Amino acid sequence: MVTGTGVNICDGCHTLCGEILKEEYDHLEKIRLKKLPTPREITAHLDQYVVGQKEAKRALSVAVYNHYKRISPFILKDEAVEIAKSNVLLLGPTGTGKTFLAQTLARIMDVPFAIVDATSLTEAGYIGEDVESILLRLIQNADGDVEAAQRGIIYIDEIDKLARRQDSASLTRDVSGEGVQQGLLKILEGTTASVQPNNGRKHPKQEFIQIDTSNILFIASGAFSGLEEVVEERLNKTSVGFGAPIKKAKSIGTHIFKQLETEDLHKYGMIPEFIGRLPIISFVNALSVDDLAHILTEPKNAIIKQYKQLFNYDNVTLRFEPEAIKSIVELAHKRGNGARGLRSIVERILEPIMYEIPSNNDITDVIITDECVAALENPELEVEPKIIYKLPEKQKSTLLTALTGTI
Ligand code: ADP
Repeated sequence: MVTGTGVNICDGCHTLCGEILKEEYDHLEKIRLKKLPTPREITAHLDQYVVGQKEAKRALSVAVYNHYKRISPFILKDEAVEIAKSNVLLLGPTGTGKTFLAQTLARIMDVPFAIVDATSLTEAGYIGEDVESILLRLIQNADGDVEAAQRGIIYIDEIDKLARRQDSASLTRDVSGEGVQQGLLKILEGTTASVQPNNGRKHPKQEFIQIDTSNILFIASGAFSGLEEVVEERLNKTSVGFGAPIKKAKSIGTHIFKQLETEDLHKYGMIPEFIGRLPIISFVNALSVDDLAHILTEPKNAIIKQYKQLFNYDNVTLRFEPEAIKSIVELAHKRGNGARGLRSIVERILEPIMYEIPSNNDITDVIITDECVAALENPELEVEPKIIYKLPEKQKSTLLTALTGTI
Protein backbone atom coordinates (compact mmCIF):
# COMPACT_ATOMS: atom_id res chain seq x y z
CA MET A 1 0.00 0.00 0.00
CA VAL A 2 1.35 3.44 -0.97
CA THR A 3 0.20 6.10 1.49
CA GLY A 4 0.01 9.83 0.71
CA THR A 5 -1.67 12.74 2.45
CA GLY A 6 -5.21 11.54 2.87
CA VAL A 7 -5.05 8.96 0.06
CA ASN A 8 -3.93 5.39 -0.10
CA ILE A 9 -3.36 3.36 -3.20
CA CYS A 10 -2.58 -0.34 -3.31
CA ASP A 11 0.36 -1.64 -5.33
CA GLY A 12 -1.94 -3.30 -7.90
CA CYS A 13 -3.80 -0.08 -8.65
CA HIS A 14 -0.53 1.84 -8.63
CA THR A 15 0.88 -0.42 -11.36
CA LEU A 16 -2.36 -0.23 -13.31
CA CYS A 17 -2.38 3.61 -13.20
CA GLY A 18 1.24 3.60 -14.32
CA GLU A 19 0.35 1.40 -17.28
CA ILE A 20 -2.61 3.61 -18.27
CA LEU A 21 -0.45 6.74 -18.13
CA LYS A 22 2.32 5.08 -20.13
CA GLU A 23 -0.14 3.98 -22.79
CA GLU A 24 -1.55 7.50 -23.06
CA TYR A 25 1.95 8.99 -23.17
CA ASP A 26 3.08 6.55 -25.87
CA HIS A 27 -0.02 7.35 -27.91
CA LEU A 28 0.64 11.11 -27.74
CA GLU A 29 4.33 10.59 -28.48
CA LYS A 30 3.40 8.54 -31.54
CA ILE A 31 1.16 11.33 -32.85
CA ARG A 32 3.86 13.91 -32.13
CA LEU A 33 6.55 11.95 -33.93
CA LYS A 34 4.29 11.39 -36.93
CA LYS A 35 5.51 14.43 -38.82
CA LEU A 36 2.90 16.26 -40.82
CA PRO A 37 3.95 15.86 -44.46
CA THR A 38 4.39 19.10 -46.40
CA PRO A 39 2.06 19.85 -49.35
CA ARG A 40 4.92 18.95 -51.71
CA GLU A 41 5.39 15.60 -49.98
CA ILE A 42 1.65 14.93 -50.12
CA THR A 43 1.59 15.70 -53.86
CA ALA A 44 4.63 13.49 -54.47
CA HIS A 45 2.83 10.66 -52.74
CA LEU A 46 -0.36 11.25 -54.72
CA ASP A 47 1.72 11.23 -57.92
CA GLN A 48 2.62 7.60 -57.29
CA TYR A 49 -1.02 6.60 -57.66
CA VAL A 50 -3.01 9.31 -59.41
CA VAL A 51 -2.21 10.32 -62.98
CA GLY A 52 -2.48 14.00 -64.01
CA GLN A 53 -4.89 16.28 -62.13
CA LYS A 54 -2.12 18.67 -61.14
CA GLU A 55 -4.38 21.51 -59.98
CA ALA A 56 -6.54 19.25 -57.83
CA LYS A 57 -3.49 17.58 -56.27
CA ARG A 58 -2.01 20.94 -55.31
CA ALA A 59 -5.28 22.32 -53.93
CA LEU A 60 -5.98 19.16 -51.93
CA SER A 61 -2.43 18.90 -50.58
CA VAL A 62 -2.55 22.46 -49.28
CA ALA A 63 -6.06 21.98 -47.87
CA VAL A 64 -5.12 18.78 -46.09
CA TYR A 65 -1.87 20.23 -44.76
CA ASN A 66 -3.62 23.31 -43.39
CA HIS A 67 -6.43 21.25 -41.97
CA TYR A 68 -4.18 18.91 -40.01
CA LYS A 69 -1.92 21.78 -38.93
CA ARG A 70 -5.00 23.56 -37.64
CA ILE A 71 -6.04 20.57 -35.51
CA SER A 72 -2.57 19.42 -34.43
CA PRO A 73 -2.31 19.33 -30.63
CA PHE A 74 1.42 20.05 -30.87
CA ILE A 75 1.30 23.47 -32.48
CA LEU A 76 0.87 26.41 -30.17
CA LYS A 77 -2.25 28.22 -31.25
CA ASP A 78 -2.95 31.91 -31.06
CA GLU A 79 -6.32 31.89 -29.33
CA ALA A 80 -7.24 35.25 -30.84
CA VAL A 81 -7.10 33.95 -34.38
CA GLU A 82 -9.40 31.08 -35.09
CA ILE A 83 -8.49 29.30 -38.28
CA ALA A 84 -11.54 28.30 -40.27
CA LYS A 85 -12.05 24.81 -41.61
CA SER A 86 -10.87 24.12 -45.12
CA ASN A 87 -13.53 21.81 -46.56
CA VAL A 88 -13.13 21.19 -50.26
CA LEU A 89 -15.42 21.14 -53.29
CA LEU A 90 -14.04 19.06 -56.15
CA LEU A 91 -15.64 19.34 -59.57
CA GLY A 92 -15.14 17.45 -62.80
CA PRO A 93 -16.20 14.58 -65.01
CA THR A 94 -16.87 11.10 -63.75
CA GLY A 95 -14.13 8.46 -63.56
CA THR A 96 -11.28 10.96 -63.52
CA GLY A 97 -9.94 10.34 -60.03
CA LYS A 98 -11.93 12.50 -57.61
CA THR A 99 -12.78 9.67 -55.23
CA PHE A 100 -9.40 8.08 -55.78
CA LEU A 101 -7.61 11.32 -54.82
CA ALA A 102 -9.59 11.62 -51.58
CA GLN A 103 -9.08 7.95 -50.77
CA THR A 104 -5.33 8.17 -51.37
CA LEU A 105 -5.11 11.31 -49.24
CA ALA A 106 -6.79 9.57 -46.31
CA ARG A 107 -4.29 6.74 -46.64
CA ILE A 108 -1.33 9.13 -46.71
CA MET A 109 -2.61 10.96 -43.64
CA ASP A 110 -3.51 7.64 -42.01
CA VAL A 111 -6.96 8.81 -40.93
CA PRO A 112 -10.37 7.12 -41.11
CA PHE A 113 -12.19 7.69 -44.37
CA ALA A 114 -15.80 7.33 -45.50
CA ILE A 115 -17.47 7.72 -48.88
CA VAL A 116 -21.12 8.68 -49.01
CA ASP A 117 -23.46 9.30 -51.87
CA ALA A 118 -25.39 12.55 -51.50
CA THR A 119 -28.32 11.12 -53.45
CA SER A 120 -28.97 8.56 -50.71
CA LEU A 121 -29.48 11.31 -48.13
CA THR A 122 -32.85 12.78 -47.27
CA GLU A 123 -34.10 15.56 -45.08
CA ALA A 124 -34.79 14.59 -41.48
CA GLY A 125 -38.24 13.12 -41.19
CA TYR A 126 -38.28 11.60 -44.66
CA ILE A 127 -37.68 7.98 -45.52
CA GLY A 128 -34.02 7.35 -46.33
CA GLU A 129 -30.73 8.04 -44.67
CA ASP A 130 -30.56 11.27 -42.72
CA VAL A 131 -27.43 13.39 -42.86
CA GLU A 132 -26.07 12.10 -39.55
CA SER A 133 -25.74 8.65 -41.08
CA ILE A 134 -22.60 9.83 -42.88
CA LEU A 135 -20.95 10.25 -39.49
CA LEU A 136 -21.92 6.75 -38.50
CA ARG A 137 -20.22 5.44 -41.64
CA LEU A 138 -17.00 7.21 -40.59
CA ILE A 139 -17.20 5.85 -37.05
CA GLN A 140 -17.71 2.34 -38.41
CA ASN A 141 -14.72 2.72 -40.72
CA ALA A 142 -12.69 3.82 -37.70
CA ASP A 143 -13.68 0.54 -36.00
CA GLY A 144 -15.86 2.38 -33.54
CA ASP A 145 -13.06 4.74 -32.42
CA VAL A 146 -14.93 8.05 -32.21
CA GLU A 147 -11.75 9.93 -31.28
CA ALA A 148 -10.08 8.81 -34.53
CA ALA A 149 -13.25 9.44 -36.56
CA GLN A 150 -13.24 13.03 -35.34
CA ARG A 151 -10.00 13.57 -37.30
CA GLY A 152 -11.16 11.67 -40.38
CA ILE A 153 -12.10 12.58 -43.91
CA ILE A 154 -15.63 12.26 -45.35
CA TYR A 155 -16.05 12.25 -49.10
CA ILE A 156 -19.55 13.19 -50.27
CA ASP A 157 -20.08 12.20 -53.87
CA GLU A 158 -22.74 13.43 -56.31
CA ILE A 159 -23.19 16.67 -54.39
CA ASP A 160 -24.39 18.35 -57.60
CA LYS A 161 -27.51 16.19 -57.50
CA LEU A 162 -28.63 18.25 -54.49
CA ALA A 163 -28.89 21.35 -56.65
CA ARG A 164 -32.20 23.14 -56.68
CA ARG A 165 -33.58 23.17 -60.19
CA GLN A 166 -35.91 25.94 -61.17
CA ASP A 167 -36.36 24.70 -64.68
CA SER A 168 -37.81 21.26 -64.26
CA ALA A 169 -41.07 20.04 -62.90
CA SER A 170 -40.19 16.40 -63.47
CA LEU A 171 -37.24 16.22 -61.12
CA THR A 172 -38.29 14.72 -57.86
CA ARG A 173 -35.25 15.86 -55.86
CA ASP A 174 -36.25 19.49 -56.40
CA VAL A 175 -37.09 20.45 -52.85
CA SER A 176 -35.51 17.67 -50.85
CA GLY A 177 -32.09 18.27 -52.45
CA GLU A 178 -32.10 21.76 -51.07
CA GLY A 179 -33.29 20.41 -47.72
CA VAL A 180 -30.32 18.05 -47.60
CA GLN A 181 -27.96 20.95 -48.34
CA GLN A 182 -29.53 22.74 -45.36
CA GLY A 183 -29.20 19.62 -43.24
CA LEU A 184 -25.50 19.30 -44.01
CA LEU A 185 -24.62 22.88 -43.06
CA LYS A 186 -24.02 22.31 -39.35
CA ILE A 187 -22.08 19.09 -39.86
CA LEU A 188 -19.81 20.71 -42.43
CA GLU A 189 -19.14 23.68 -40.22
CA GLY A 190 -18.57 21.79 -36.99
CA THR A 191 -21.07 20.67 -34.43
CA THR A 192 -21.54 17.96 -31.87
CA ALA A 193 -23.89 15.54 -33.51
CA SER A 194 -25.79 12.66 -31.99
CA VAL A 195 -25.58 9.59 -34.12
CA GLN A 196 -27.74 6.57 -33.64
CA PRO A 197 -25.84 3.34 -34.12
CA ASN A 198 -28.01 1.23 -36.38
CA ASN A 199 -26.65 -2.12 -35.38
CA GLY A 200 -26.05 -1.51 -31.70
CA ARG A 201 -23.20 -3.99 -31.78
CA LYS A 202 -20.33 -1.71 -30.97
CA HIS A 203 -22.27 0.25 -28.36
CA PRO A 204 -24.87 -2.14 -27.02
CA LYS A 205 -25.86 0.04 -24.08
CA GLN A 206 -25.53 3.42 -25.73
CA GLU A 207 -28.47 4.96 -27.54
CA PHE A 208 -26.57 7.73 -29.29
CA ILE A 209 -22.93 8.37 -30.08
CA GLN A 210 -21.76 11.96 -29.68
CA ILE A 211 -19.31 13.07 -32.32
CA ASP A 212 -17.73 16.49 -32.82
CA THR A 213 -17.41 17.29 -36.52
CA SER A 214 -15.22 20.43 -36.17
CA ASN A 215 -12.07 18.55 -37.12
CA ILE A 216 -13.51 16.27 -39.77
CA LEU A 217 -12.43 17.28 -43.26
CA PHE A 218 -15.22 17.15 -45.83
CA ILE A 219 -14.52 16.76 -49.52
CA ALA A 220 -17.67 17.22 -51.58
CA SER A 221 -17.59 16.32 -55.23
CA GLY A 222 -19.70 16.17 -58.34
CA ALA A 223 -19.58 16.25 -62.12
CA PHE A 224 -21.72 19.44 -62.24
CA SER A 225 -22.65 18.88 -65.85
CA GLY A 226 -24.08 22.04 -67.34
CA LEU A 227 -22.09 24.27 -65.01
CA GLU A 228 -19.72 25.14 -67.85
CA GLU A 229 -22.59 26.85 -69.66
CA VAL A 230 -23.44 28.86 -66.55
CA VAL A 231 -19.84 30.10 -66.32
CA GLU A 232 -19.71 30.77 -70.02
CA GLU A 233 -22.95 32.71 -69.94
CA ARG A 234 -21.68 34.92 -67.14
CA LEU A 235 -18.36 35.53 -68.87
CA ASN A 236 -20.07 36.44 -72.09
CA LYS A 237 -22.55 38.68 -70.34
CA THR A 238 -19.84 40.63 -68.51
CA SER A 239 -18.12 41.36 -71.78
CA VAL A 240 -21.19 43.03 -73.28
CA GLY A 241 -21.06 46.80 -73.66
CA PHE A 242 -19.25 49.43 -75.60
CA GLY A 243 -15.49 48.92 -75.44
CA ALA A 244 -15.80 45.90 -73.17
CA PRO A 245 -13.04 43.36 -73.64
CA ILE A 246 -14.11 40.29 -75.55
CA LYS A 247 -13.47 37.47 -73.13
CA LYS A 248 -15.44 34.71 -74.64
CA ALA A 249 -14.92 31.76 -72.34
CA LYS A 250 -14.14 29.21 -75.02
CA SER A 251 -11.53 31.42 -76.65
CA ILE A 252 -9.47 31.43 -73.47
CA GLY A 253 -8.77 27.83 -74.24
CA THR A 254 -8.07 26.68 -70.70
CA HIS A 255 -10.35 24.76 -68.42
CA ILE A 256 -13.55 26.73 -68.00
CA PHE A 257 -13.74 25.82 -64.30
CA LYS A 258 -10.64 27.93 -63.74
CA GLN A 259 -12.93 30.90 -64.08
CA LEU A 260 -15.61 29.54 -61.81
CA GLU A 261 -17.01 31.88 -59.20
CA THR A 262 -19.28 31.01 -56.31
CA GLU A 263 -22.14 32.91 -57.95
CA ASP A 264 -22.08 30.33 -60.77
CA LEU A 265 -22.62 27.57 -58.21
CA HIS A 266 -25.51 29.53 -56.68
CA LYS A 267 -27.02 29.89 -60.11
CA TYR A 268 -26.57 26.16 -60.64
CA GLY A 269 -28.76 25.54 -57.59
CA MET A 270 -26.38 25.21 -54.65
CA ILE A 271 -27.45 27.36 -51.72
CA PRO A 272 -24.95 30.11 -50.77
CA GLU A 273 -24.60 28.91 -47.15
CA PHE A 274 -23.66 25.47 -48.40
CA ILE A 275 -21.01 26.70 -50.84
CA GLY A 276 -19.78 29.04 -48.12
CA ARG A 277 -18.83 26.00 -46.06
CA LEU A 278 -16.70 24.58 -48.87
CA PRO A 279 -14.19 27.40 -49.21
CA ILE A 280 -11.67 25.52 -51.33
CA ILE A 281 -12.88 24.84 -54.84
CA SER A 282 -10.84 22.76 -57.25
CA PHE A 283 -11.46 20.69 -60.35
CA VAL A 284 -10.24 17.66 -62.22
CA ASN A 285 -9.86 17.43 -65.99
CA ALA A 286 -11.23 14.86 -68.41
CA LEU A 287 -8.63 12.17 -69.07
CA SER A 288 -6.89 12.05 -72.45
CA VAL A 289 -6.01 8.84 -74.32
CA ASP A 290 -2.43 9.23 -73.06
CA ASP A 291 -3.61 9.65 -69.46
CA LEU A 292 -5.69 6.49 -69.78
CA ALA A 293 -2.72 4.53 -71.19
CA HIS A 294 -0.64 5.78 -68.29
CA ILE A 295 -3.31 4.81 -65.75
CA LEU A 296 -3.55 1.34 -67.24
CA THR A 297 0.15 0.57 -67.00
CA GLU A 298 2.16 2.97 -64.85
CA PRO A 299 0.94 3.78 -61.32
CA LYS A 300 2.00 1.65 -58.36
CA ASN A 301 -1.25 -0.29 -58.42
CA ALA A 302 -2.00 0.08 -62.15
CA ILE A 303 -4.81 -2.17 -63.35
CA ILE A 304 -2.49 -4.25 -65.51
CA LYS A 305 -0.03 -4.71 -62.65
CA GLN A 306 -2.88 -5.96 -60.48
CA TYR A 307 -3.97 -8.58 -63.03
CA LYS A 308 -0.37 -9.64 -63.68
CA GLN A 309 -0.06 -10.26 -59.96
CA LEU A 310 -3.27 -12.27 -59.89
CA PHE A 311 -1.99 -14.46 -62.74
CA ASN A 312 1.38 -14.77 -61.00
CA TYR A 313 -0.30 -16.39 -58.03
CA ASP A 314 -1.18 -19.21 -60.45
CA ASN A 315 2.36 -19.23 -61.89
CA VAL A 316 1.21 -17.73 -65.17
CA THR A 317 2.80 -14.71 -66.87
CA LEU A 318 0.28 -12.29 -68.31
CA ARG A 319 1.42 -10.13 -71.24
CA PHE A 320 -0.26 -7.50 -73.39
CA GLU A 321 0.78 -6.66 -76.94
CA PRO A 322 1.25 -2.87 -77.27
CA GLU A 323 -1.53 -2.76 -79.87
CA ALA A 324 -3.88 -4.38 -77.37
CA ILE A 325 -3.09 -1.68 -74.79
CA LYS A 326 -3.78 0.97 -77.40
CA SER A 327 -7.13 -0.58 -78.30
CA ILE A 328 -8.21 -0.96 -74.66
CA VAL A 329 -7.44 2.70 -74.04
CA GLU A 330 -9.24 3.86 -77.18
CA LEU A 331 -12.30 1.81 -76.31
CA ALA A 332 -12.39 3.26 -72.78
CA HIS A 333 -11.99 6.77 -74.17
CA LYS A 334 -14.82 6.19 -76.62
CA ARG A 335 -17.12 4.96 -73.86
CA GLY A 336 -16.53 8.18 -71.94
CA ASN A 337 -16.53 6.87 -68.36
CA GLY A 338 -12.98 8.00 -67.70
CA ALA A 339 -10.68 5.44 -66.16
CA ARG A 340 -13.63 3.56 -64.73
CA GLY A 341 -14.10 1.87 -68.12
CA LEU A 342 -10.56 0.49 -68.16
CA ARG A 343 -11.05 -2.07 -65.44
CA SER A 344 -14.30 -3.41 -66.83
CA ILE A 345 -12.77 -3.81 -70.29
CA VAL A 346 -9.71 -5.66 -68.98
CA GLU A 347 -11.90 -7.77 -66.72
CA ARG A 348 -14.14 -8.81 -69.63
CA ILE A 349 -11.15 -9.73 -71.79
CA LEU A 350 -9.52 -11.80 -69.08
CA GLU A 351 -12.56 -13.44 -67.56
CA PRO A 352 -12.68 -16.58 -69.75
CA ILE A 353 -8.99 -17.30 -69.27
CA MET A 354 -9.16 -16.57 -65.53
CA TYR A 355 -11.88 -19.20 -65.40
CA GLU A 356 -9.63 -21.68 -67.13
CA ILE A 357 -6.23 -21.17 -65.51
CA PRO A 358 -6.79 -22.54 -62.00
CA SER A 359 -7.79 -25.91 -63.41
CA ASN A 360 -5.03 -26.12 -66.00
CA ASN A 361 -1.48 -26.51 -64.73
CA ASP A 362 0.03 -26.56 -68.20
CA ILE A 363 -0.45 -22.86 -69.00
CA THR A 364 2.66 -20.74 -68.45
CA ASP A 365 1.96 -17.54 -70.43
CA VAL A 366 -1.09 -15.69 -71.65
CA ILE A 367 -0.73 -12.99 -74.29
CA ILE A 368 -3.54 -10.52 -74.94
CA THR A 369 -3.70 -9.34 -78.51
CA ASP A 370 -5.44 -6.54 -80.31
CA GLU A 371 -7.99 -9.02 -81.64
CA CYS A 372 -9.04 -9.96 -78.09
CA VAL A 373 -10.05 -6.32 -77.56
CA ALA A 374 -11.79 -6.03 -80.92
CA ALA A 375 -13.86 -9.12 -80.06
CA LEU A 376 -15.45 -7.20 -77.19
CA GLU A 377 -17.30 -5.00 -79.65
CA ASN A 378 -18.07 -7.88 -82.03
CA PRO A 379 -19.34 -10.73 -79.90
CA GLU A 380 -19.71 -12.92 -82.98
CA LEU A 381 -15.91 -12.99 -83.24
CA GLU A 382 -14.59 -15.72 -81.01
CA VAL A 383 -11.07 -14.71 -80.17
CA GLU A 384 -8.90 -16.34 -77.58
CA PRO A 385 -5.69 -14.92 -76.20
CA LYS A 386 -2.47 -16.53 -77.26
CA ILE A 387 -1.64 -19.16 -74.73
CA ILE A 388 1.72 -20.78 -74.13
CA TYR A 389 1.64 -24.18 -72.56
CA LYS A 390 4.50 -25.84 -70.75
CA LEU A 391 7.31 -26.29 -73.25
CA PRO A 392 10.93 -27.31 -73.11
CA GLU A 393 12.94 -24.16 -72.17
CA LYS A 394 14.56 -23.82 -75.59
CA GLN A 395 11.30 -23.92 -77.49
CA LYS A 396 9.75 -21.45 -75.09
CA SER A 397 12.58 -18.95 -75.39
CA THR A 398 12.22 -18.99 -79.19
CA LEU A 399 8.52 -18.32 -78.78
CA LEU A 400 9.11 -15.49 -76.33
CA THR A 401 11.66 -13.82 -78.60
CA ALA A 402 8.87 -13.52 -81.11
CA LEU A 403 6.88 -11.67 -78.49
CA THR A 404 9.44 -8.96 -77.73
CA GLY A 405 7.73 -5.71 -76.98
CA THR A 406 4.83 -7.15 -75.03
CA ILE A 407 4.07 -5.40 -71.78
P1 ADP B 1 -14.58 9.84 -59.90
O1 ADP B 1 -13.89 11.03 -60.48
O2 ADP B 1 -15.89 9.57 -60.59
O3 ADP B 1 -14.69 9.89 -58.41
P2 ADP B 1 -12.87 7.58 -59.38
O4 ADP B 1 -11.84 8.28 -58.57
O5 ADP B 1 -13.87 6.76 -58.61
O6 ADP B 1 -13.65 8.60 -60.30
O7 ADP B 1 -12.16 6.68 -60.49
C1 ADP B 1 -12.49 5.33 -60.72
C2 ADP B 1 -11.23 4.49 -60.79
O8 ADP B 1 -10.48 4.84 -61.95
C3 ADP B 1 -10.29 4.72 -59.61
O9 ADP B 1 -10.52 3.82 -58.59
C4 ADP B 1 -8.91 4.53 -60.22
O10 ADP B 1 -8.58 3.16 -60.21
C5 ADP B 1 -9.09 4.94 -61.65
N1 ADP B 1 -8.68 6.35 -61.88
C6 ADP B 1 -9.50 7.37 -62.20
N2 ADP B 1 -8.80 8.50 -62.41
C7 ADP B 1 -7.50 8.18 -62.23
C8 ADP B 1 -6.29 8.92 -62.30
N3 ADP B 1 -6.28 10.23 -62.60
N4 ADP B 1 -5.14 8.26 -62.05
C9 ADP B 1 -5.13 6.95 -61.76
N5 ADP B 1 -6.25 6.19 -61.67
C10 ADP B 1 -7.43 6.79 -61.90
